Amino acid sequence: MVITILLRVRAFRTEYGSLSGAASARRLLMPARETEAIILRTFPLGEADRLVSFFGRSSGRVRGVAAGARRLKNRYGSTLEVLSHVQIWYVEKETRDLVRIEQAELLESFHKAQSDYGLSTGLAVISEISELILPEHEVSEPMFRLILLAAREVERTADWHLPLSYFAFWTVRLGGWLPRFDRCVACGTPFDSKPAFYDAHQSGLFCEKCRRAGMKPLDAEARGLAERFAGERLDRMTFEKCIETGAGELREAGLSWIEHHLERRLRTRELLETT
Ligand SMILES: [Zn+2]
Repeated sequence: MVITILLRVRAFRTEYGSLSGAASARRLLMPARETEAIILRTFPLGEADRLVSFFGRSSGRVRGVAAGARRLKNRYGSTLEVLSHVQIWYVEKETRDLVRIEQAELLESFHKAQSDYGLSTGLAVISEISELILPEHEVSEPMFRLILLAAREVERTADWHLPLSYFAFWTVRLGGWLPRFDRCVACGTPFDSKPAFYDAHQSGLFCEKCRRAGMKPLDAEARGLAERFAGERLDRMTFEKCIETGAGELREAGLSWIEHHLERRLRTRELLETT
């Protein structure tokens, strides 16, 4: 009985194969994989190529080579700009870490932000953090949506302040490194309306008594904004003057916790002060 079924399956396959011979030949030439992706970084590679790090919605973070991407006339156009939202086709090779990028099509351009020095600095911070934090080949739908939302908001509002605060806060939260915001990590005293303190050497928030030298404040206003970030969508919030200080403090605290977790300084962080 089993043998009969197997034989039938084989017969069907043979027939199917012969009927669609041309189609399967085409399939062999087609790229093996396709994913929606965000371009994280690119580096020049040799005379004509580019090394591309991208974060695929269905592939996770992957590195590949875009052959000929440095030539003046190339088929990639502006698809390989930092944080471009693209559809990408690539071929994996078993023996190599790098995939071969065959094609990329722009789904969404952040051209205004990419071509402005100040705004592109904001995008560069998002790209550097994503590159360092995302493990290779690991899919993360929340991080994919977060990066895209932050980039969209930098582009839409022509301002990186609020998007970057939101991105830093949510990266820390999704990473599971967010400390308690209501009481001191050392003595348990509630902060209430008093400031809390942090630095990049530990992950908690400290009260006025337990704070160590060099720690920076995270005021009640910044902690209140964190609560809003946890419950509201970034694209429905407006960057009013009254949340400017809180947003700055929250961004700095978030970036410090990210550096603490990575055990390294972010290269792009100091550039923010010059924009
Ligand atoms: Zn304390």
